[in-house]
Amino acid sequence: MIERPRGTRDLDPDEMETRRKIEQNLRDLSTSFGYREILTPTFEHTELFTKKSGPDIVNELYHFEDKGGRDIALRPEFTASVIRAYNEGMRELPKPLKLFYFGPSFRYERPQSGRYREFWQFGTELIGPDTARADAENIALAYNCVKNIRLDEFELRVSNLKILDQFLQENDIDIEKRQDIYHKIDKEELEEVSEEYSLGSKLLDFLNMELDEMSNILKDPEPVEYLKEVLDLLEYYGLDEKHLKVDIGTVRGLDYYKGVVFEIDADNLGAEKQILGGGDYNLGDIFGIDISSKGFAMGFDRSILALENEGKLPELDEMDCYIIPIGEESFEYSYEILRELRSKNVITDIDLMGRGVGKALGYADKNDFKYALLVGGNEVEDKSVTIKDMHSGDQKTIGKDEFVREVDEKWN
Ligand code: ATP
Ligand code: MG
Repeated sequence: MIERPRGTRDLDPDEMETRRKIEQNLRDLSTSFGYREILTPTFEHTELFTKKSGPDIVNELYHFEDKGGRDIALRPEFTASVIRAYNEGMRELPKPLKLFYFGPSFRYERPQSGRYREFWQFGTELIGPDTARADAENIALAYNCVKNIRLDEFELRVSNLKILDQFLQENDIDIEKRQDIYHKIDKEELEEVSEEYSLGSKLLDFLNMELDEMSNILKDPEPVEYLKEVLDLLEYYGLDEKHLKVDIGTVRGLDYYKGVVFEIDADNLGAEKQILGGGDYNLGDIFGIDISSKGFAMGFDRSILALENEGKLPELDEMDCYIIPIGEESFEYSYEILRELRSKNVITDIDLMGRGVGKALGYADKNDFKYALLVGGNEVEDKSVTIKDMHSGDQKTIGKDEFVREVDEKWN
């Protein structure tokens, strides 16, 4: 038997309906923030990702040589593609340029709960302004994405990488080591870092300080003041304080992040709890352009798992009408009703198997139809329809035109 590849999923109709609803919610929200959707190719030259993230990234990539001998990779994320697309065809567009995207990404990872080899990302890029207000707008949209899909148990951690940079610099740690240090902090190996770089308790103490305290002990408090400015601006967006935490230990693993960064965790997810990550980065270098870009990527699949754990998945739509023709002599009239209802966008299906009324009703019940329409000889004769309300079990016979009018008024 051929099975689906490891780390992939088949999404059934219930799951797809749920996902489409949440996806629509995110599209509408981002659109209301003035962002517009773009789509980039599913595969790119592998070099785009190795240039951005270093050669080690190939271990995480699905990549192959195509028939023309090119090294091609399925995208592991969208950011590099969006900046490539910007450089290739959108440079002339007025700034700020606000973009969002939605689609599958591919990573060769060890699959586990909330970690797949094919997963979906919803994300944004705000290209142009390198201002505290742009950082605030970026964070506010990320927060609202999570809030708007009705997730309630989450924490948004915000930092400015330049604060840690400043601290390390003032403690005579070579900026070259930053990458190693951030990587370890990301893995919560604070003690290892302190030991390796002879920092004693300094790093831990620093991370536990309030921003004002940090400002006082740093020789150059500018990065702290910048973060404070962003936090002040966030007040304009009415974010609920209970979700917000300043955590200078929030570092994004990769090289190209440079300023404000943030992550959102869903508390109920266990180990793979990060549902969103983003910040301020510099990717223009890859293309030799100087352009500010701030964005985030939301793990769509993990967000849905978190929603499910909170019991907050959107309700599935009910089907409307299931027509059960009784005998072939009622086909013509049954199909007339079918056509009429479908033309009014009423979700209408008809029995295709010629099953007995009992079995056909059983099918209508299992598939969540609101009404079963029984159409036999009498109905054909009177141009009526017998309606069984599948919730109450009530049954009544009314004129067809009256029923169509009723349904039309109720649903449209
Ligand atoms: P993690 O540390 O969990 O691997 P990451 O830092 O690699 O995450 P990003 O590259 O920032 O993640 O991607 C943004 C979001 O995409 C993550 O916050 C997460 O929700 C989601 N994500 C990343 N990798 C996977 C995966 N393999 N399966 C499902 N979702 C993922
Ligand atoms: Mg990862």
